[in-house]
Amino acid sequence: MSGFWTWEQKELARPTTKQEVIEAGLAYLEGVGADLICKVCIPGGGSCCSGCPFLEDGVGCGQRNTSCTAWLCGFLKYIYYEAGLIREWEEFWDQVPGQQFRYDTTPRHFAVRGWLEPPKLRFLFEAFADDLQRLRRDRPASWLVELKGKLDWHIDEIVDSTNPKFIKRIEAKLHRLTSDFHRFHQAKAQLD
Ligand code: SF4
Ligand code: SF4
Repeated sequence: MSGFWTWEQKELARPTTKQEVIEAGLAYLEGVGADLICKVCIPGGGSCCSGCPFLEDGVGCGQRNTSCTAWLCGFLKYIYYEAGLIREWEEFWDQVPGQQFRYDTTPRHFAVRGWLEPPKLRFLFEAFADDLQRLRRDRPASWLVELKGKLDWHIDEIVDSTNPKFIKRIEAKLHRLTSDFHRFHQAKAQLD
């Protein structure tokens, strides 16, 4: 987050709290259906909470924080990218100070300039989750985790690039990597 705001930005500032941004982030994740992907990923050995000391048996996260709410794994990053949501998500969380690894030092009160409105895209995430579940059955055990890592890597490459030719090349790679995700691509066509 930039520590310096112009007068115009100060005018647009909206006071908020750490709890409120976490709730907005969770409502957004619920709106897109991130939980549907997690339900396939976790039994497939891909849980991002694995080994975290704040993970409580049978309860889940015991330390909900801004960092983990903002963080996107490769699957979510890829679908956000395809749905055109990744910039608004990153821009929102760039305004939230104090994000660390699995904890935060976010102050209780601060201000933001923009807000997140949860999109209704569960059908898209549901389609991806169905494909992931189906494809996982016939692939090696490591496939799911490897795919997640590759998607993560390629979306970062795209987001960090300003070179349209390079972006096209990476998009072609993404298309090859997900070519068997038929339901997802059909669902995505409804957005175009
Ligand atoms: S890595 Fe992604 S899909 Fe897997 S449990 Fe974490 S957020 Fe869910
Ligand atoms: S702090 Fe983050 S990694 Fe740890 S259990 Fe909570 S959400 Fe998972």
